[in-house]
Amino acid sequence: MNDASKKSLSEKVAVSETAAGAILTVDLGAIRENYRRLKARLGGVGCAGVVKADGYGLGGPQVAAALAAEGCDIFFVAHLVEGVLLRQVLGSRPAIYVLNGIQPGAESEAVEAELGAVINSVGQLAAWRAAAQRAGRTLKAAIQVDSGMSRLGMAAAEVEAVAADPQAFDGIDVTFVMSHLARADEPKHPANEQQRLEFERLRRMLPKAPASLANSSGIFLGQPFHYDLARPGAALYGINPMPAEENPMLPVVRLQAKVIQTRSLDRGAGVGYGHIFHVTEPLAAATISLGYADGWHRRAASAAWFENVPLPFLGRVSMDSIVLNISALPPDRLKAGDLVELIGPSQTVDQAAGHAGTIGYEILTSLGHRFHRRYVTGAM
Ligand SMILES: *Cc1c(COP(=O)(O)O)cnc(C)c1O
Repeated sequence: MNDASKKSLSEKVAVSETAAGAILTVDLGAIRENYRRLKARLGGVGCAGVVKADGYGLGGPQVAAALAAEGCDIFFVAHLVEGVLLRQVLGSRPAIYVLNGIQPGAESEAVEAELGAVINSVGQLAAWRAAAQRAGRTLKAAIQVDSGMSRLGMAAAEVEAVAADPQAFDGIDVTFVMSHLARADEPKHPANEQQRLEFERLRRMLPKAPASLANSSGIFLGQPFHYDLARPGAALYGINPMPAEENPMLPVVRLQAKVIQTRSLDRGAGVGYGHIFHVTEPLAAATISLGYADGWHRRAASAAWFENVPLPFLGRVSMDSIVLNISALPPDRLKAGDLVELIGPSQTVDQAAGHAGTIGYEILTSLGHRFHRRYVTGAM
């Protein structure tokens, strides 16, 4: 792996730890441990790694290399460009599938990078068949069926149509038949079993191939949902796959921002854009070098933490900065350059998401491009 290929999409310019306004630490050892935990839960069933969106914002190449070191040899990305990058990093051996399918006309680019297509429609199937003919060899594809999410995959009528066409799969090596669950994080919801039964019905019409249904949360729905291959993403990155229960995964991410300056604020002072906060009694404030351009939602009402002390946000989140109330700390305890924590032992990704009115997936994939990124194994 050379330096250029190791750079994630979000790391086009590396910023030093000294120069950076914020530091993102990714524990690749924790990702590997999470992969092992999911594998253990799956028994002998295969476990792919979903590394779309630049490895959920954490660095697709780094994450994929860590998973490959655990023996993961099937990867899913969402876009062709992510697959091309991953192929450069992982070499020729692992299978890489493009979940959104190949955009019309881009089939030869996918063939060149040895990417497998996820076939979501009759149109994508025909285009892949034509690509196989042009390439003069069989091409790998996972056939996705819509078992009830109404998002991607062939609808029942399309499955019936291709099932009736003896030439439909000419030149195509169907490596998986797959579908995706809409409500896997609600284990008691009947939609899960309904989708599973519909998946069963649809896959019986297609060429016999290994089956794949479960994402992270789907793995925790139990053995009937496991089939031949699970496709976890979120749980690998420490997001709780079972929101109603204690998180069975290890945390993976730590995000710390630097204090730019501190000040005392007198009664009556207005803070930040729109002065949505007015000081009612004198307080100490610190401005940190992280804002909504770094993925911290403008609407977030949360806190940063310093040595287990929560430091609430004051006023609006700006593009590049946030003002904190640091009155709970001893005077002059916090100085320019000190780090406060936004994600880490004091505040999990899921908790941070809760304060921002969103989910951990969006927090991670929103993480900005201006951080100094540290990749570690243990000891965040
Ligand atoms: C994103 C995605 C996954 C991974 O889902 P997680 O909830 O992150 O585990 C699996 N399959 C498909 C089709 C996806 O789009």
